[in-house]
Amino acid sequence: MKRIVSGIKPTGELTIGNYLGAMKRWAEMEVENNESLYFVANLHAITVRQDSFELRKRTFDVVAWLLTCGVNPDKSLIFIQSMIPAHSEICWVLTNFVTIGELGKMTQFKDKVSKSSKDGQLAGLFEYPVLMAGDVLLYDADEVPVGDDQIQHLELTRNIANRFNNLYGQTFKEPKGTISKSTSRIMSLKNPDTKMSKSETEDSYIALQDKPDIIIKKFKRAVTDSDNTVKFDMEKKPAISNLLNIYSGFSGKSVDDIEKDYMNEGYGKFKTELGELVAGKLEIMQKKFSELREDEEQLMKVVLKGNAGANDIANKKVSEVFEKLGLVYHRY
Ligand code: ATP
Ligand code: MG
Repeated sequence: MKRIVSGIKPTGELTIGNYLGAMKRWAEMEVENNESLYFVANLHAITVRQDSFELRKRTFDVVAWLLTCGVNPDKSLIFIQSMIPAHSEICWVLTNFVTIGELGKMTQFKDKVSKSSKDGQLAGLFEYPVLMAGDVLLYDADEVPVGDDQIQHLELTRNIANRFNNLYGQTFKEPKGTISKSTSRIMSLKNPDTKMSKSETEDSYIALQDKPDIIIKKFKRAVTDSDNTVKFDMEKKPAISNLLNIYSGFSGKSVDDIEKDYMNEGYGKFKTELGELVAGKLEIMQKKFSELREDEEQLMKVVLKGNAGANDIANKKVSEVFEKLGLVYHRY
């Protein structure tokens, strides 16, 4: 049995990048004989200023989306990070097993810090990979299914685990980051060199909540490469390759088959039909989401069940770590 852990931040509207790169795969991984923990990474969200009301609302939006995407609360533990104190506790400890130099090298940090403005550069943005390391190490995760923007953070997580284990004896399992090949990184519709992100401009992503006409319009306006053939070539044709990945993710067809279908067609027809495909699928999902989202009490029940399971595992780990460090520990 493998233990799987992954999280998603309640910042902005979820995109098809989050769906294809993370949530869709999370549901698929349940089928195997796995034990999965999926959480709303709300402590991570505050590295950028959030509106409190929105943050709370979005936290439950994420829970409802997880259920919509097929994550089954009877098989997986769905929980909210801020409700498990161990995440904050382990973070401080691990901050002392990483260097400022290592954190400064993180590409996500460099990306985000260049965009942060009026509050200056928050230390939380710098340290969040440590919080993330704790998220994973608390649960002895074997696998962490993420988009490939997170692979560097997982490498850091392994280094932190290794360093602690060498000093204090085997304590943490070194986790494997797993990415799905084709959908590991869905790129922006406006710039195929940057990843699709819910905190970027609206026309660069498809939100899971976008209405059909908007989705079709956004795909029509998506940038494409210079010649007019629907052919996968990440190097020379990154824009159309990204659209092919999206088509494949939503249709279940292989990129090869899609290329064949559009062999004698230009970009126009391909983009229109891609828009229709995605709009159709998302419309069905949105209906399911609305029904689930209406009943916040039920969502809370799901979360409380997940929290209980997660808390048990996480508290044991924190107690072991504190004991090894000689930190007096008692959970009231
Ligand atoms: P933010 O811009 O606030 O960081 P985000 O869209 O990157 O938002 P996260 O909450 O950071 O979303 O990531 C949640 C999960 O979705 C992670 O596993 C991440 O790797 C994955 N993910 C995010 N964007 C993409 C993308 N464009 N393609 C594939 N996977 C993605
Ligand atoms: Mg992100």
